[in-house]
Amino acid sequence: MSQCVSAHRLSTGSYTDQPKGPFRAGERTRLSATVVVGTQWGDEGKGKLTDLLARDMDLVVRYQGGHNAGHTIVTGGDTFALQLIPSGVLYPHITPIIGNGVVVDPGVLLSEVDTLSAKGVDCSRLRVSGNAHLIMPYHHELDRMTERYLGKNRLGTTKRGIGPAYADKATRVGLRVQDLLDPKIFRQKLDVALKEKNAVLAKVYNRLPLDGDAIADCYLGEYAPRIEPMVDDAVALVHQALGAGKNILLEGAQATFLDLDQGTYPYVTSSNPCAGGACTGAGIGPRELGRIIGIAKAYVTRVGSGPFPTELDGDLADLLVDRGHEYGTNTGRRRRTGWFDTVMLRQAVRVNSLSEVALTKLDVLDTLDAVKVCVAYEADGVRYDFMPYHQSVLHRVTPVYEELPGWRTDLSGATDLSDLPTRARDYVAFLASQGGVPIQLVGVGPGREQLVDIGIRD
Ligand code: GDP
Repeated sequence: MSQCVSAHRLSTGSYTDQPKGPFRAGERTRLSATVVVGTQWGDEGKGKLTDLLARDMDLVVRYQGGHNAGHTIVTGGDTFALQLIPSGVLYPHITPIIGNGVVVDPGVLLSEVDTLSAKGVDCSRLRVSGNAHLIMPYHHELDRMTERYLGKNRLGTTKRGIGPAYADKATRVGLRVQDLLDPKIFRQKLDVALKEKNAVLAKVYNRLPLDGDAIADCYLGEYAPRIEPMVDDAVALVHQALGAGKNILLEGAQATFLDLDQGTYPYVTSSNPCAGGACTGAGIGPRELGRIIGIAKAYVTRVGSGPFPTELDGDLADLLVDRGHEYGTNTGRRRRTGWFDTVMLRQAVRVNSLSEVALTKLDVLDTLDAVKVCVAYEADGVRYDFMPYHQSVLHRVTPVYEELPGWRTDLSGATDLSDLPTRARDYVAFLASQGGVPIQLVGVGPGREQLVDIGIRD
């Protein structure tokens, strides 16, 4: 979180329920939004796909998560690592929206705006839902403390206060973006929250209490004046856009198996990246969702702790890490790697109603003689085609593999299906048939244009 330097206060609240965005209610010509959802444990390359889809979009809405997302977009020789701001910001025709399901660290938001602006990206269209929750300094502190106290049982959170902010949302003591616009209410809510937080920090964790005045000066004095012009009624903007026949992209962070409800609990995030979370986090009903695109890596990676049935080690793991640059965008942590897991894919198709899949990083497998695919799990003599619900079972499953021949061809220059060697096509077709879902796009390199439209059916 950035340090506050100035201390002037916003003197009046200025919340208005009239959306400031560019859309007007009109005839309903189209009733669908597109969702992009990760089908594994994140880092599947959502950034690149959302960026590609964004070209045809009018609105891009981030629907959950915080600044632990770390999308990377490579364009025109420039690399943009976006943590909080929707990737659509790079397109002048798009209104990027941070939806109500997101938790916002205002210091991070503003420094991301500053970084993008310094690179010539216009952030003036950015809208932030007044109902999104704020990450507060005590959330950072509590995140650090709880992870430290969990010791070897720690969850491997990014310690950015995201989990504690969502916890406060659930226990209804959270502060929201709209509170920044009303100093009196902000201060009241802060004092209520701080009373309990400081007691916990002092009595449980032996930490010094946080100073309410300093927090208020920072949030109301430094952040509020800059964030106020961005604050809007995001739900109204989304529905006006739908009504006007505009195209909307709902962009999540993390992925299906990090979903608080559908993921490998407790090694999950504290929100709902699954398609259902797109509805609640953007204020849109399930019937408005059209394409629900699952994004999968051609192998699997995971950061931090938690079960990982197809995990590899040794030379193969090193090869995938090296060729795929499998280090966290924000944390630099080496990712765990494993073979593609169609049990996960099948489950992701189920819980998200995926209409199609985009498969990224196929090129990373280019040098292999053979590739394995997990088609089922086994534990205690039982075969599992879908993820076992029981955590203990998932921890002891062994993968059932099928082996396919590698293609040993550089795919990086492929621009359509005919450029893919037969063995690479067979690999993709096998995943599609095992997953029971069409694979529409295949990634063959990090560049924006290295996403081939192949349309392989299941
Ligand atoms: P996200 O959080 O899901 O967007 O995932 P990351 O930000 O970790 O992005 C994945 C990384 O892989 C980025 O550096 C991308 O440029 C890169 N990438 C995306 N698609 C491909 C691909 O098809 N091939 C290769 N080699 N790299 C890719």
